[in-house]
Amino acid sequence: MKVTVGIEVHAQLLTQTKLFCSCKLDWQASQNSLVCPVCMGMPGTLPVLNKRAVEFAIKSALALNCSVNTTSIFSRKNYFYPDLPKGYQITQYDKPLAQNGFIIVNNRKIRIRRVHLEEDAGKSIHTDKETLVDFNRCGVPLIEIVTEPDIESSAEAVEYLMKLRQILRYIGVCTGDMEKGNMRCEPNISVNMGNRTEIKNLNSFKAVSKGIEYEFQRQVKALENNEQVTHVTLLWDEKEEVTKPMRTKETSEDYRYFPEPDLPPLVLKESRIEEIRATLPELPETKISRFVSQYELPEQDAKILCEEQVMADYYESAVKICSLPKQTANFIISDLLAVMNTLQTSLEKLTFSPAYTAELLSLIENGVITRKTAKDILPELIEKQESPAKFVETKGLKQISGGDEIENAVKKVLSQYPAEVERYKQGKVQLFAFFTGKVMQETKGKANPQSIKDLLLKNLG
Ligand SMILES: [Zn+2]
Repeated sequence: MKVTVGIEVHAQLLTQTKLFCSCKLDWQASQNSLVCPVCMGMPGTLPVLNKRAVEFAIKSALALNCSVNTTSIFSRKNYFYPDLPKGYQITQYDKPLAQNGFIIVNNRKIRIRRVHLEEDAGKSIHTDKETLVDFNRCGVPLIEIVTEPDIESSAEAVEYLMKLRQILRYIGVCTGDMEKGNMRCEPNISVNMGNRTEIKNLNSFKAVSKGIEYEFQRQVKALENNEQVTHVTLLWDEKEEVTKPMRTKETSEDYRYFPEPDLPPLVLKESRIEEIRATLPELPETKISRFVSQYELPEQDAKILCEEQVMADYYESAVKICSLPKQTANFIISDLLAVMNTLQTSLEKLTFSPAYTAELLSLIENGVITRKTAKDILPELIEKQESPAKFVETKGLKQISGGDEIENAVKKVLSQYPAEVERYKQGKVQLFAFFTGKVMQETKGKANPQSIKDLLLKNLG
């Protein structure tokens, strides 16, 4: 049996104000503090379209390879719900902002059917005793991104969402923060091209994956028992990990769409669309290919570095200074990210500049310090925000090559472990690494690895 998935995503745009009024956007503001007569739907008020929101929506559509319509229409979607004081939501229906796009996910094309602008509704907060409503979210600008049913597994659905989120972050229109509801997903699932079911408002990749998987199994079982799969809207129960049908009252409405009488058609000049296209940054796919060819990196490394724009920028700034593309990639991926993880900091907050990274890598490259020393001092460097060269100088961490100091250490180690030396001489050559480690310890990580090797070989005969 074959599963087919299409996904609707609601992404919150990073504007300062709401879609049709000047109320601020701030998810931390106290409940019902960011409202006005327009977003509360008071009679006699009129919506005024947010120019920045339109620009962000166009930018998103272009980044998703859509064609942007020079005329699109806002429509009213009518329904009654406590968190919707107007009694309708302004959205786009039969004439959306953009259509016919695609993104590439693991070498497969996932087609984007449409991208349109709409306003968010408020939020219902259910407690044990009652349901409260917070209207701060009323009128917050969203784009809805709808795919064709091109997705073939729950894993691919998650990969699609990660790719989409990455693109929206790159172009700076959405934080993609799923826990805060800045990106919400509604997959629709069908088996063997049968009736599809839709799961509402999933807020994490895990929920998307589990929800689709559950729904696939449920539909397969129904079909095997010769039961009909009906077209329903479902809710995902996070605790029980099952889908549950929404009350029919909420699913069977007729939204009675009609063109919004208070807003004229949204007419865009071709030249304006092209101006916005020109502001698009280099997108992840292109950047990854460029990193592979320009810096000769393995694709997997390029992917990690291009995961977020800020990391890709960090990498390129450092390489520009030290001209060590491979070493810089390895250092960021295996050392810097690990330390940042331990210190629980992000690249945005990191005060260890690309210039310091370049300096540290040059110190290794020029043989001033060993790679081990660099690794060892990194947490302290990050914490103290100190120049690596200065730090190495003051702490006396310069690498020692050849000379008596290493030879003395080698002799000391070999005299400490006569039994091991004997076994080595009888053919247990793996012990060489053991001796190397001990000499490294003895010299506090400062000894040049080649010198250790040479001197060990000499002294072991
Ligand atoms: Zn308002």
